[in-house]
Amino acid sequence: MELIVSDQIVSSRIYNGKWNMPDSVDIKCGYCSRTVNFSLEWSSLSESNIFTFSRCSGCGQKSRFYYVELRKREDEVFIGDLYVSPSAKSRKIIDGIEVTEKFHESMLRAYESAINVYNLGEWTATVVLCRRLLEGITKSLLPEGEQGKPLNKQLELLAGHAELQKPILTLAHAIRVGGNLGAHFDLDREPDEKVSKFLVDLLDYIIEYLFVLPRRIEQLHSHIEALSNKNLAGES
Ligand SMILES: [Zn+2]
Repeated sequence: MELIVSDQIVSSRIYNGKWNMPDSVDIKCGYCSRTVNFSLEWSSLSESNIFTFSRCSGCGQKSRFYYVELRKREDEVFIGDLYVSPSAKSRKIIDGIEVTEKFHESMLRAYESAINVYNLGEWTATVVLCRRLLEGITKSLLPEGEQGKPLNKQLELLAGHAELQKPILTLAHAIRVGGNLGAHFDLDREPDEKVSKFLVDLLDYIIEYLFVLPRRIEQLHSHIEALSNKNLAGES
């Protein structure tokens, strides 16, 4: 069972005077992995949970939908969380990434877009968006004067500006090359699911290494520091 978090895949909602519920969602079918529209006709309604089945227009299998954790909003309308079973294991952005001074809002949006198109099975769009975000990350690490250069050149310059180890730069180059596969039309070489998955994996590693890990290390340091200060205060 998987929680459907993105409002983007809820294509419409209904309101029956009390409940505000999604009645149409575009998601990957847990049986055939095709992205289809599931129309939701809620059959059971109770104070604690709402439940329904919906048939996939691709393979004909029935997925189960649950609307749970119902709660009252300020405007007195009840809303809940939508779950689907079986889940097609959609991908999510990595844990711990948030907008910071270094990781701008536009970068988070680009990252979310890359994951969204990946979940929709749009492989060309995925690799193009991965490359685009890599460009954003690279620019954020370089001084302004060097941001207009081609990505290939920017990555070479990065070695002198950020504490990047060779494996990370190799990862970045791999994303650039994979992204080129999507950016330039080539009949014989089109990105597929395998390439897209690879690229999104690599992108996750880079984001984790550059933006999530340093923050966690900093948090750990200040926590340890606070602990030792407390101990010192206790000793005196
Ligand atoms: Zn299906």
